[in-house]
Amino acid sequence: MMTVAEAEALDDWVALHNRNLETIYITHAHFDHFYGLRILLDRFPGARAITTPGAMKAMQMSFTPAVERLARQMFPGQIPTKLIAHEAYGGDTFTLEGYELQILQQGSTDSPDSTSLYVPSIGLIVAGDVVYNQCHMCVGDTTPEGRQNWIADLDGMAALNPSMVVAGHKKPGAPDSAVTIQETKRYLENFDRLKKTEAPDQELFDRMTTLYPRWVANQSWLMFGFPGA
Ligand SMILES: [Zn+2]
Repeated sequence: MMTVAEAEALDDWVALHNRNLETIYITHAHFDHFYGLRILLDRFPGARAITTPGAMKAMQMSFTPAVERLARQMFPGQIPTKLIAHEAYGGDTFTLEGYELQILQQGSTDSPDSTSLYVPSIGLIVAGDVVYNQCHMCVGDTTPEGRQNWIADLDGMAALNPSMVVAGHKKPGAPDSAVTIQETKRYLENFDRLKKTEAPDQELFDRMTTLYPRWVANQSWLMFGFPGA
């Protein structure tokens, strides 16, 4: 939900399914998940947009002029002219149509203080960027310790035995299956192992893309951080 078009597509989905949008939950601090928020809140003025206090703090960076400028350069004319922030929500759960949604605090994954949502009544995890689905992962900012934490988060989610896992990023059409938890873990383990060899970036990139020939988002900055950021 970064661009105007993406937010409008969500708006269209809500209208098509005749839903009243009450709560927008933002899982983590990366702006590709919330710069388009204003479009939805204009359309549903009664809705609240929430995130955890930790993610709220981490996302302040996305509202600095430098980061906003970078985003507008990357996506010219596609980001709403005025950005809007969320509210910090201190609870561990909230409800939707009477069902409980649990906030899973995940710590450092592809961003600090990241979270996922778990809906026990239907065995659903909306993972945010803790799970990727056949899509190269944003590991450029991770440390060895962060990757270990991330792997422990994945083990914790697998232990919940979910029937459906919605990843923050996925190859179009890929099923929202729980095997994505293990695939994400394996990708992190592969990246960690190759990173430890201290191979040059180009070699690391080539080896990762050879391991994952069918995964999308084949972009080197995901592995090595964003130039200029
Ligand atoms: Zn993301």
